Amino acid sequence: MSKDIYVFAEQRDGKLQKVGIELVGKARELADDLGEKVVVMLIGSDVKRNAEKLIKHGADKVIVVEDPMLKEYVTEPYTKAVTKIINENDPNIVLYGASAIGRDLAPRVASRVHTGLTADCTKLDIDEETKLLLMTRPAFGGNIMATIVCENFSPQMATVRPGVMKALPTDNSRTGEIEELKIEFVEADMNVKIRQVIMSDKKAVDITEAKILVSGGRGVGSPEKFEMLKNLAESLNGEISSSRVAVESGWVDHDRQVGQTGKTVRPDLYMACGISGAIQHVAGMEGSEFILAINKDENAPIFGVADLGIVGDINTILPKLTDEINRIKA
Ligand code: FAD
Repeated sequence: MSKDIYVFAEQRDGKLQKVGIELVGKARELADDLGEKVVVMLIGSDVKRNAEKLIKHGADKVIVVEDPMLKEYVTEPYTKAVTKIINENDPNIVLYGASAIGRDLAPRVASRVHTGLTADCTKLDIDEETKLLLMTRPAFGGNIMATIVCENFSPQMATVRPGVMKALPTDNSRTGEIEELKIEFVEADMNVKIRQVIMSDKKAVDITEAKILVSGGRGVGSPEKFEMLKNLAESLNGEISSSRVAVESGWVDHDRQVGQTGKTVRPDLYMACGISGAIQHVAGMEGSEFILAINKDENAPIFGVADLGIVGDINTILPKLTDEINRIKA
């Protein structure tokens, strides 16, 4: 009988990635619904020191697989480790982040253990009657949300994009079990040889970490006018982000795009400037704590999700807002 919810905890350079902690939080909620446990798979080299942190964020047990060969992510050995854990434990559900690593690993594992996989889920629930996992994701270009169940195969597996689920706060009173699993890795398991890891020299911005985002869309009009947004973001100690149109127009880098094909963000303040509020954009920012929308069209759909709306021209409003904030700060 399959049981318990397993989470693949992603790490890079031995450092836990946020998405794994977010998934442990969601798994905790699902496991409580089912009366099952949350088990985390922590795989890498010198990663055991992260196990306690995962327990404090909601895990009941952490299975640690350590080997120097697992220092950098390589498809085959990681697939071997996860497949072994699944085959030996028969979990009910397995969750992965829909990151570059999760998107590579989860389909391989699904094929090895002969089950299905729902990619890029935005919502996970338990069906009250059947106790099956309800995996919801956008379908048909984001025009509908499809809820998928995997009733004939086990485990039920899903990937979830970073930022979609909320991590639980640290609970220092939580205790759990840590199991070290030894797996033999041989040269033949390394289907790829990593000769050197070269970090991108582009200054990485992670808009998912920003507390304040000043986001611009087609209404901004040009890359030069994005300066207005940058000035405002600077005065608020925030970052700029954008809709897909602004990225496709070459005004902003893709790593700042919010939405279904961009990032999912949950800042304390999201300012949507000249953004209409298309469903694919809203999917990436509706979890923000407070949404302020500025749009010259009073019927723009963005006002439907905004906590505060200003009907007007951003060219007039943004410079005034920035001046006023700088005046208050001075
Ligand atoms: P528009 O919809 O053109 O809106 C511009 C807004 O600016 C209008 O409401 C207008 O009234 C207002 N405006 C104009 N001038 C001013 C001014 N001076 N002052 C104030 N307001 C002004 N989009 C995303 O953002 N992220 C995604 O990840 C994404 N993924 C997609 C995936 C798929 C499969 C598909 C099909 C689409 C996706 N899109 C995504 C595109 C999405 O459907 C919209 O086309 C896009 O979000 C619109 O961007 P926008 O709001 O900037 O532009």
